[in-house]
Amino acid sequence: MSETPAAPCELCAQPGGETLWEDAHCRVVRVGGSEGVAFPGFCRVVWREHVREVSDLDVAGRRHLLGVVTAVERAVRNAVLPDKINLAAFGNKVPHLHWHVIPRWQDDSHFPEAIWAAPQRAVPARIAPASETLRRCLHEALDEMRMP
Ligand SMILES: [Zn+2]
Repeated sequence: MSETPAAPCELCAQPGGETLWEDAHCRVVRVGGSEGVAFPGFCRVVWREHVREVSDLDVAGRRHLLGVVTAVERAVRNAVLPDKINLAAFGNKVPHLHWHVIPRWQDDSHFPEAIWAAPQRAVPARIAPASETLRRCLHEALDEMRMP
């Protein structure tokens, strides 16, 4: 079930990053800005309708979302070979259902803390993947997930 947000919602109004893949239900965007520099390959999975929680989705929607999040995890692993992936869903600031898929390295600026915690060290130089590389890895992992 979707709802009408009480205030203008930034994820209803705009993609939230460079769109790398989308289907009728959700989109995968590349996170830009300083987070994209510190964690190259950082993607978000954004549900198309304005819903707040995973449990607002019907069973098929939940399965689809979790399937897409898992496929994005695989794609990010293949694209940037991180030491770890962090999955997170908060929506405290933007209560529109979205998941963060965050590649982590042992020498990244916040490891082993969450990326929203206090930094542990400077951002290391790391080569960001081309968007085409991310797109190709996403298509390989996601095309079989697409729902009609
Ligand atoms: Zn929204």
